[in-house]
Amino acid sequence: MSKEKSSATPVPTPAADSTQHPKGNLGAIVNIHIDRAAKAISLPEEIALILGQPKNEIIVHFPVRMDNGKYQMFTGYRVQHNNILGPFKGGIRYHQDVCLEEVRGLASAMTWKSALHDIPFGGGKGGVQFDPNLHSIAEIERITRRFTHALAGSIGPEYDIPAPDVGTNSQVMNWLMDTYMNIAGALDKNAMRRVVTGKSLTSGGSLGREAATGAGVVHCITEWAKDRRFDLTGKTVAIQGFGNVGSFTAKILSKLGVSLVATGDYKGYVANAEGLNPHKLGEHVRKTGSVVDYKHSKPISREEFFAIECDILVPAALELEIGESEARNIKARLIVEGANGPTYPEADTILNERGITVVPDILANSGGVTVSYYEWLQNKRSERWDLEEVDARLEKQMKRSYGWVRDFAHEKRLDLRTAAYAIGLDRIRRAYADRGIWP
Ligand code: NAD
Repeated sequence: MSKEKSSATPVPTPAADSTQHPKGNLGAIVNIHIDRAAKAISLPEEIALILGQPKNEIIVHFPVRMDNGKYQMFTGYRVQHNNILGPFKGGIRYHQDVCLEEVRGLASAMTWKSALHDIPFGGGKGGVQFDPNLHSIAEIERITRRFTHALAGSIGPEYDIPAPDVGTNSQVMNWLMDTYMNIAGALDKNAMRRVVTGKSLTSGGSLGREAATGAGVVHCITEWAKDRRFDLTGKTVAIQGFGNVGSFTAKILSKLGVSLVATGDYKGYVANAEGLNPHKLGEHVRKTGSVVDYKHSKPISREEFFAIECDILVPAALELEIGESEARNIKARLIVEGANGPTYPEADTILNERGITVVPDILANSGGVTVSYYEWLQNKRSERWDLEEVDARLEKQMKRSYGWVRDFAHEKRLDLRTAAYAIGLDRIRRAYADRGIWP
């Protein structure tokens, strides 16, 4: 019997396994931190069992029309880790390495971050696997609207509230909100505004949200310096990543007299021992898309960046950047994790042995979720807080959280990361203990 040739268009071969992250399993690494913290507070086994897994994992595949008229398939994720303390909350990432493992790890970290700061939110994270640098603004808008449509039944202003992350910004959040509001009925439309935070001001965003994560990083640095009577004036910082978190950290630190001696991004690294002007560098990045070729700098390699002479190092790019070799070469005495999950556990051990303090991500970069919470509250109450109020609340919250972590670490003889996770874990443990595990 002869086989008939199919006349249908062949189904394209799926992309290489999209559930594996090229640099390692972030979810498994976060679980190592949780295990250590669980031991420190003798967490009951059943709570550890629940928290070791996300509640929901949503994977969507959707078509988007490209500018050339052809269609391309995209894969998006939303992982909802835990919501015992409040609605799932966490960013949306656009990056070519986005995968289920990565989103799982980042969603779990959000649960601990909200719990640590006593913010009534849970943890979630999402993303779409593509490189936004290779797409036009119009294509990114269509990808965002189609992804939002695919996710619409699984997010909501009292259920799961996205925010910006790597590769997304207030514009992307505005499109997300607008798509969601248009799906909602006319009567409910305005109540839907707070389905997402990190929006622009005209779309219901909060003053101070854009700079909030960098501002929070700097509050951690000033608290650390105050405890040690370490004068920050004239000191130096190296920052990996010059996007939202990295650039605001550099700008705010410059006001305190801390100079940026090296930075880098997806294209390369630059240095200037005399200091890089973060405002002019920001202008260069806005025009060219990268710190590379900034005229008042010399190019350096990634290895040279991590070995550079500086007092403070702020990883503010992606996860899993500081491994064993970086940890051995780092000269800074303080590392403040602007990025989520930048340090491998093996590197943590080396840094501890070398006496380098690491302020962990769930404490250091929490300014973003804190002001996102303020934005959500303002939307809910139809209020607009002025910048002074937002900044003052953020400062108070960051100092309070830093104090909780520092004191707990001191009391229990823990590193700051284990202490931070233990505080978050303990808040969640108490919620389960009060409510019980149904049925
Ligand atoms: P962003 O997209 O604005 O900036 C990311 C920066 O990292 C860019 O400069 C980019 O070029 C650089 N980068 C990308 N790949 C790189 C690579 N392979 N090597 C070196 N640099 C690279 O993102 P962002 O919002 O500033 O987020 C940075 C980190 O901070 C992420 O880990 C994110 O999860 C975390 N974070 C962000 C917020 C927020 O409010 N934006 C809040 C909490 C945590």
